[in-house]
Amino acid sequence: MPVDFELTEAQKILRNSAREFATKEFTREKAVEWERRGEFPWELYRKCARQGYIGMAWPQEYGGQGTGLIETMLVAYEFSKADPGLGSAIMAGTFGSDIIAYFGTPEQKAKWLPRIVSGEITSSGCFSEPGGGSDIARVLDTRAVKTEPGWTINGSKLFITNATTATIFVTLVQTDPKSRPPYLGQTEFIIERGPGVDTTLMKGKMGWHTSPTGEVYFTDVRASDADIVGGAACINKGFPIALAFLDIGRLAVGNMSIATAEAALDRAVAYAKEREAFGRKIAAFQALAFRLVEMATEVELAKSLLLRAIWLTERARKDRALQPESIKVASMCKWYGAKLAVASCDLLVDVFGGNGYFSEEDVSRWYTFAKQLELIEGTKEVQKNAIARIMLGDEIARRF
Ligand SMILES: Cc1cc2nc3c(=O)[nH]c(=O)nc-3n(C[C@H](O)[C@H](O)[C@H](O)COP(=O)(O)OP(=O)(O)OC[C@H]3O[C@@H](n4cnc5c(N)ncnc54)[C@H](O)[C@@H]3O)c2cc1C
Repeated sequence: MPVDFELTEAQKILRNSAREFATKEFTREKAVEWERRGEFPWELYRKCARQGYIGMAWPQEYGGQGTGLIETMLVAYEFSKADPGLGSAIMAGTFGSDIIAYFGTPEQKAKWLPRIVSGEITSSGCFSEPGGGSDIARVLDTRAVKTEPGWTINGSKLFITNATTATIFVTLVQTDPKSRPPYLGQTEFIIERGPGVDTTLMKGKMGWHTSPTGEVYFTDVRASDADIVGGAACINKGFPIALAFLDIGRLAVGNMSIATAEAALDRAVAYAKEREAFGRKIAAFQALAFRLVEMATEVELAKSLLLRAIWLTERARKDRALQPESIKVASMCKWYGAKLAVASCDLLVDVFGGNGYFSEEDVSRWYTFAKQLELIEGTKEVQKNAIARIMLGDEIARRF
């Protein structure tokens, strides 16, 4: 299949202005300060919103710019490359709300999207539960029971990005626990922070403290059919909606992972050309130079994979026949990209030596950020299972 890797003039302008903005705004000093405070960078998030970088792909009538997937990915790439932890925390501010943008009713879109685009509020996408995050096709513990005229929701969600800052929680809930398979009895609700919704920040996170991860508890929360993503017609249709959202999500994480790998490599190269040992620049030691060269080659490969994954995903939206291939390549991109981000940050720590292990040089922050990329939006095993199902066939790989 032919792929044109050349960006259009408009895309180049967008990428360059996002790069300029991110280099100026996502400085190391700011990133360290936000990380130390362990707070979501609201100020910066709103600045990004004023520049039009939040909800870019959403239709103009809801405040977006109606751009394509490539434009969103280009901006996210530049943000993550300027500072992986800070840039990704900003992009994750809208997590979950693409579900409303793509599957919501016109009323739901009009109610929530403009408030997100403007930077007024953040959102959450709630799937994982204390009982597990990889297998969300099982009978979920978060339940909605019909209590005329609406629904009553009880349960809790774990590891939720923006738990403590979000105004809305786009939540996958079991509406029919008897349904077999269980996922045919799941529904996506938009739950607004209010009575019965409690959130706590989870303590002891390894890194990425600019992005608040927490627990969300629902206790007798009242909801109506109007709060179901897509309305009453979408009762028990939440699972395919969640999957479609996660398909794009894995590509987004692949994108920020490869940006992280490249950023770490660039920093390692710059330091290796400065630092001296045994009277030489450390880059002049061939053993180290080869590690840099190998990583540069892998980053280059990953960037080609990423472009192909974006290209395929964009086309699969119009041509359903391309969907298996696009899911396969996007899963490869997420798995391989996250692995590369960890490997590149590991190399970065090695190149910095003892300075890399201490916080002075702020290298370990990138390393701990990279590790969570392997977990979110489906672990590496979950990605490989998805690839295997498409590559080997459902009959063989279904029970993995
Ligand atoms: C920083 C951070 C932010 C997050 N944000 C969100 C969020 O906003 N919303 C949300 O819903 N979740 C979020 N998560 C949760 C994340 O999606 C889950 O951690 C992830 O899906 C794994 O689920 P789990 O932790 O329950 O691990 P488990 O599902 O218990 O898996 C444990 C291990 O078993 C492996 N495993 C499980 N099943 C299989 C299988 N079939 N084959 C092979 N191996 C398998 C896994 O790969 C993993 O290594 C976040 C997590 C982190 C760390």
